[in-house]
Amino acid sequence: MSLNEIIILGIETTAHTFGVGIFSSLKGILANVNDAYVPLEGGIHPREAAEHHASVAHKVLSKALSIANVKMEDITAVAASFGPGLGPCLRVGCSVARALAAHYSKPLVPVNHCVAHIEIARYLLKVSDPLVVYVSGGNTIIAAYSDGRYRVFGETLDIALGNCLDVFAREIGLGLPGPPHLEEKAKKAKKFIELPYIVKGQDLSLSGLLTKALEIASSDTNYSLEDLCYSFIETAYGMLIEVTERALAHTRKNSVVLTGGVARSKVLQKKLEIMCKLHSVNFMTVPAEYAGDNGGMIAYTGYLCYSHGITIPVEKSYIRPRWRLDEVDIPWFKQD
Ligand code: AMP
Ligand code: MG
Repeated sequence: MSLNEIIILGIETTAHTFGVGIFSSLKGILANVNDAYVPLEGGIHPREAAEHHASVAHKVLSKALSIANVKMEDITAVAASFGPGLGPCLRVGCSVARALAAHYSKPLVPVNHCVAHIEIARYLLKVSDPLVVYVSGGNTIIAAYSDGRYRVFGETLDIALGNCLDVFAREIGLGLPGPPHLEEKAKKAKKFIELPYIVKGQDLSLSGLLTKALEIASSDTNYSLEDLCYSFIETAYGMLIEVTERALAHTRKNSVVLTGGVARSKVLQKKLEIMCKLHSVNFMTVPAEYAGDNGGMIAYTGYLCYSHGITIPVEKSYIRPRWRLDEVDIPWFKQD
């Protein structure tokens, strides 16, 4: 490594994934190794996910260092997702980061997970000032930069889009992740079933949709599963498109970027693309490898933080399970 190279090791553990990424200021992302906990049944059990993370931490860390061809001694600083996320899961990643920072005498960098989903998309897509549609298992946020921070121009009032789609798919006996299975079934639908479509101002609500669709699925009503899946995703994605379109009109950004795990949805990509075309703005989706939770995005965002003087003493490094996107200063942002 050269003298002026900054190398950041980033650890992700907000929910289902234990990930380690390594970013070099000269060479870009050197490694992105992720290991996801898959529940045997039901949703994510925070304690079981945390146990998974602790059990794979050493293997994932060693693999990332080996792929990047660096040693811990070469690392400039250690970054970790401090929140938002599940407490038991966050605690594993932060404990590993704290131990590495203390043992190797490296600075510790606190990274906000939502900021990381946005920054990795801006970096990989080379887009400077987009309206961001961030849809994942735990978050559904429409955000854009304004006056020093990413501001929230719309969000879910209850459950996240990914969670909503996963729970529905799981409860009706389709596999996980929910979106591709629901979208496949929806292809054979013949009619639309009216379901709760709830947009309040700039925000959306998905829990009423989920409750009603599950009620229909478990009732004696004569319905076809294909029609229900089609209506479910049309309603959920429709709400998201509406609040995105409203945020676009409000912010007047000239590009829309889709990020987070649900960004892999081909149907959602197509719908956003059509809406963006109507408004003559660019539409881009983060590459699939970096759509869901990953260590690479924490390493890269850790680099942005570290190079702007953002570090935290180990003894003050508490996790922040409810750390909102709009609480974070973004000193590296340069507006056109
Ligand atoms: P994240 O929390 O960012 O890792 O995103 C997790 C979410 O991504 C889950 O709730 C899934 O519904 C969603 N997801 C995972 N794989 C796919 C896929 N191939 N297509 C659409 N959504 C997906
Ligand atoms: Mg995420």
